[in-house]
Amino acid sequence: MPTRLALKVDVDTDRGTREGVPNLAADCREFGAPACFLFSLGPDQTGRAITRVFRPGFFRKVSRTSVVSIYGVRTLLNGTLLPAPHIGRRNAGTMRAVRDAGFEIGIHCHNHYRWQDYVQTMTQGEVDAEFDAARAEFRRIFGAEARTAGAAGWQSNARSRAAYERAGLLYASDTRGGAPFFPRTDGQVFNTLEIPSTLPTFDELMGRPEHPDDQIVPHYLSLLRDDRVNVLTIHAEIEGMGRRGLFRDLLAACRARGVELIRLDDYAREQLADRGTIPVRDQVMAPLDGRSGLVAAQR
Ligand SMILES: [Zn+2]
Repeated sequence: MPTRLALKVDVDTDRGTREGVPNLAADCREFGAPACFLFSLGPDQTGRAITRVFRPGFFRKVSRTSVVSIYGVRTLLNGTLLPAPHIGRRNAGTMRAVRDAGFEIGIHCHNHYRWQDYVQTMTQGEVDAEFDAARAEFRRIFGAEARTAGAAGWQSNARSRAAYERAGLLYASDTRGGAPFFPRTDGQVFNTLEIPSTLPTFDELMGRPEHPDDQIVPHYLSLLRDDRVNVLTIHAEIEGMGRRGLFRDLLAACRARGVELIRLDDYAREQLADRGTIPVRDQVMAPLDGRSGLVAAQR
C-alpha cells in the first residue's frame, strides 16, 4: 500500500478565510489533493489572543514564528481596538465555493478565541451554546448539518465531546498523535471516532534553528509512516498565505514520492467499517513540542 496522507485545514480568522482559503483550495486542486476545511464561523476576536502573551512559553513561540507577520496587524486588532468581524456572514460565498469545488467541510469553532482560552472552564451549557452557534451558522451557510469538527487550539474535554456526540458527527479531529480511537475522558467513553493529527504543524517547526526553511519539506517526508494514514493540519493563515510557497513545495514533494492524498471522511468510513477494532483510549491534556500550553492527546 502506498504512503497515505490526509490534509485538515484550520481556518482561524476573517482574513484567512478571505485570502488563505481560496489560495489553499487552488493549490490543493492543482496538485489533486483533497483537504478538509474546518471553518471558524462566528466573530473574529483574534486580537484578544494577545492576552496570551502573558502565559509562560508564549514569548519563545512569538519570537520564533513572528505572529504579527503571519496574522497581520489588522487581524491582531480584531476584537480589541477594532470591532470583531463576523466570519460566517462576511465569507459565506467563499465557504460555499470550497464545498462546490468538492472539498470536505466542517466546523472549527464559533469564536476561536473563546473556545481556545475558555472551553476548559465553561459549563456544559456554555460549551453546548458555543458549539450550537457554530452548527447553526454552518447550517445557514451550507443548508446541511456539519459531519465533522476539529477543535480550536486542540482544546477538548468531556463537555465538548458530549456536544459532538449530540451533533451526530461522522468523526472529529481534536487531538495530536497516534492512531484513530474512541476517547474516554472523565469516566465517559464517547462514540464519535477521533482521528488525530499525526504530524507537527508548520508553525511548530518554523523559525527553529534545527528546522531551517529549506529542511522543512525533507523533514516532513522523513516523518511519513506507511503503517497508517498520516494526518497533517495546516492553517489558512500560514500555508495559505505567508508560507504558501513552502506548502506547494511539500505537495510537489509528496507527488514526486508517490504519496497518496486521501479524504479524511473516507478514512473515517474505512475505520468505522471495522468498528470493533478501534481502540478506546484515555484523552488527556499534554504538552507538545513547539506549542505553548496543553493540547488534547491520547494517553
Ligand atoms: Zn485554529
